[in-house]
Amino acid sequence: MKKHIPLATPHMSEEGYEVKFINDAFEKNWIAPLGENVDGFENDIKEFVGVEAATATVSGTAAIHLALKLAGIEQGDKVFCQTFTFAGSSNPIHYVNAEPVFIDSDLETWNMDPKALEKAFEKYKTPKAVIVVNLYGVPSKLEEIKSICDKHNVPLIEDAAESLGAKYMGKQTGAFAQYGVFSFNGNKIITTSGGGMLVSNDEKAISKSRFWATQSRESARHYQHNEIGYNYRMSNVVAGIGRGQLKVLDSYVEKKKAIYEKYKEAFKDIKYIKMNPYLENISEPNFWLSCMTIEEGCKVKPIDIMIALENDNIECRPIWKPMHMQPVFAHCDFISLNEGKSVSEEIFNTGLCLPSDIKNTEEDMNRIIDIIKNLFK
Ligand SMILES: *Cc1c(COP(=O)(O)O)cnc(C)c1O
Repeated sequence: MKKHIPLATPHMSEEGYEVKFINDAFEKNWIAPLGENVDGFENDIKEFVGVEAATATVSGTAAIHLALKLAGIEQGDKVFCQTFTFAGSSNPIHYVNAEPVFIDSDLETWNMDPKALEKAFEKYKTPKAVIVVNLYGVPSKLEEIKSICDKHNVPLIEDAAESLGAKYMGKQTGAFAQYGVFSFNGNKIITTSGGGMLVSNDEKAISKSRFWATQSRESARHYQHNEIGYNYRMSNVVAGIGRGQLKVLDSYVEKKKAIYEKYKEAFKDIKYIKMNPYLENISEPNFWLSCMTIEEGCKVKPIDIMIALENDNIECRPIWKPMHMQPVFAHCDFISLNEGKSVSEEIFNTGLCLPSDIKNTEEDMNRIIDIIKNLFK
C-alpha cells in the first residue's frame, strides 16, 4: 500500500508552543473551565483579527447560536443564510426556532451573491439577520454584502469558521460584520481539537454572550438564573492549544497558498479545470482547502478523480452540498438568480476538494498531480 495522503490534518507547531501553554495550566492547577489561557486566547484573537471583544466557545456552531441570540432572533423570524456552506452555519437558525431562507452563490467567490441577496430582500422585507460565509477560506464580497444589510438595517453575521487568517481589502475576515465567528475544529486551518470564537466590536454584546455561554448565572452569592443559559464556554486546556496554534497560523497560510499555486500551475494547460476562484485584487484567502471544478461536458468527472486518488490511498472530498438541497432543509425557500440549475448546485456537481495538508511533501504533491493529469490524457 502506498503512503496515505490525507485531505488536511491537524498540525501542532514544531516549536511545541501548545504543550507549553497546556503545561502552564497544569502547573497552576488551572484545569477548571475558565482561566488564564481562555482570557489569553480571547485577547490574542482580538489583537490578530482587529476587534474589540471576543468570547471563546466550545464550537463555531455554538458561537453562531449566540450571534443569532444577540441579533434578537425569535420564533418564526426569517434569517438569510448562504446556501453553499457546511450545516454548522444553518443548524443554529433552527435552535432559535427561526426559518432559514437560503441564498445562492456567485461564480467569482463561490460565496453569497450580493444580487441574489438583494432579490431576497425584495421578496422578504424584514429578515432578522444575514449569515454570510467565507467558504474554503475565500472571502465573500464582504463590503457589498455589508452595505446591503446596512441599507436594510439588518445585522450581518460573518461565518469565518474556515477563513481565519484570510484578508479582504487588507483587513482580517471575521471583522467585517456585527458578529464574526471562528471555528477551531480538528479540520480547520488551526485547531484546538474543538472550539470556536465569537467576535464583535460591541463589547456589551460580547459580555452578554459570555453570560449566556456560562448558564446565564447572575452575579449573586447563590446560584441565581433569570434567563435560560448554555454550557458553551471553551475550557482552559483547549484554549492553551489555541494560543500555541495562533503563533504558527501565518506560516500555515503560506504553506496552504503554496499548495494552491502548485495545483494551479500544474493544471493551467487543462482547459476543463478551474481552481476555486477569488477576487485577486481585493482578497487574500487563507487557502484552507484547494478546490477545483471540471467543466461540464468533459469526459472526466469529479468522481473519476476521487476514485483514482482513493485507489492510490489519497483522500479527496466532494464539495459541500448546498443546504437548499439537503432533505432537512427541503421546506425552506431558496433564492437564486438562475431559474433551473443554481450556481451552488453547479459547483457542487462539477467540483471537488483536493488534498491540502500542509505536511504534504513535494513528492506527495507530484503524485497527486500526476494521477489527475493522467486522466485527462
Ligand atoms: C466548521 C464550520 C462551522 C462549525 O464549526 P464547529 O466548530 O465545527 O462547530 C460553521 N461553518 C462553517 C462554514 C464551517 O466550516
